[in-house]
Amino acid sequence: MPAITNHMPTAELQALDAAHHMHPFTTGADLAKKGARVITRAKGVTLTDSEGNQILDGMAGLWCVNLGYGREELAEVAARQIRELPFYNTFFQTTHVPAIALASKLAELAPGDLNHVFYAGSGSEANDTNIRMVRTYWAEKGKATKSILIARWNGYHGSSMGSGSLGGMTGIHSQGGLPIPDIHHIGQPDWWAEGGDMTPEEFGLMRARELETAIEHLGANRVAAFIAEPIQGAGGVIVPPSTYWPEIQRICDKHEILLIADEVITGFGRTGNWFGSQTLDIRPHIMTVAKGLSSGYQPIGASIVCDEVAEVIAGTEFNHGYTYCGHPVAAAVALENLRILEEENILAHVRDVAGPHLKAKWEALTDHPLVGEARIVGLMGSIALTPHKESRAKFASDSGTVGLMCRERCFANNLVMRHVGDRMVISPPLVIRPEEIDTLAERARKALDETYAALKAQDMLKAA
Ligand SMILES: *Cc1c(COP(=O)(O)O)cnc(C)c1O
Repeated sequence: MPAITNHMPTAELQALDAAHHMHPFTTGADLAKKGARVITRAKGVTLTDSEGNQILDGMAGLWCVNLGYGREELAEVAARQIRELPFYNTFFQTTHVPAIALASKLAELAPGDLNHVFYAGSGSEANDTNIRMVRTYWAEKGKATKSILIARWNGYHGSSMGSGSLGGMTGIHSQGGLPIPDIHHIGQPDWWAEGGDMTPEEFGLMRARELETAIEHLGANRVAAFIAEPIQGAGGVIVPPSTYWPEIQRICDKHEILLIADEVITGFGRTGNWFGSQTLDIRPHIMTVAKGLSSGYQPIGASIVCDEVAEVIAGTEFNHGYTYCGHPVAAAVALENLRILEEENILAHVRDVAGPHLKAKWEALTDHPLVGEARIVGLMGSIALTPHKESRAKFASDSGTVGLMCRERCFANNLVMRHVGDRMVISPPLVIRPEEIDTLAERARKALDETYAALKAQDMLKAA
């Protein structure tokens, strides 16, 4: 088969993109002036753009291409499934083999009694399902007043009305009338930015206890569930202090609050185990998954639900579902993705090879004058940029100004590294090899050097 090549000059593609394509989380007018970078192909951990640049993808697409690009097996499975059964629904008392096989596989991989799968097309959709499912669960138990979901400021759970409400991103809340009713937010366990004079352990406990305070304030008879990412991703790869999750778990147990772990990023090997809940020793009632479930080759998400909740939901008609719930092509690709993760021992690669190698390189960046803390679990990591390490100071410039400069220097050095405010984050494909990690770290350091030089030249190395 011939390759799908780009026959148009980059400028023409950019002009058409600017004229007709509305980008997510983007100021369209600014992008139109600049022109979007056109990615044309990818292999392994390397992207190629329309100008022929070879860029190391330190973000695995958008936290999802865990197996890396160009896996023939996934293409084969998709083609075979399209020929055999491209679509059928699961609404009308019908099912199909890919949906069955993937649900059984997820039940096998998921910890504890998380044995039931409700499919979605994305992480946002799965979290919308979770809102309705936990509220329905309590209503069916005769406790309809338990409708509030507690979540965290700077958490990310998607950008639909429901999932965007669960998230604690003020930029999302400020557009379109979010949050929906009965969502409550507590503080995040970001010690670097918010821990003040406390030790990380003290701060972790303090932030976890905000959950208990909120439950007591709202009334346990009003609270349905707490949702959180085991490790915040889009919020800047915030690794919570060690005291945080045990205390959260204790509080959820004590007050009989359902616990939802949003594993959309942390699932499927990112932290070195199948799920972040295992790495952080959390016992959720529901896990949200998407992204790495299919390594991004097909759009698919799911809620993986414990026996107790599934049993109660099974007792009523749950008036909820998406046309593409359990889409056969997406499910078949996800299943093949899981098979490869297992067969190629990719979790062991993350735990024993890539993880420790990246951790050493990543933590070594703290000797750079711009880098405060460096945090990493498995293959998700972040560094905090700061004008003054000892006081953990923020820059005088608006949050994100320095981060954006650094991201642009990364791109100029053929590395995709994202910024969240003035934190830089990475989440490379899980298959990344040690020599590719060396390249990632070299390019990151070069970008930091160039950012530092630019800040100095522009007299921007000032604390707020
Ligand atoms: C990306 C993400 C989502 C949303 O998933 P979409 O597929 O973009 O809708 C939800 N939760 C977390 C933790 C995520 O990182």
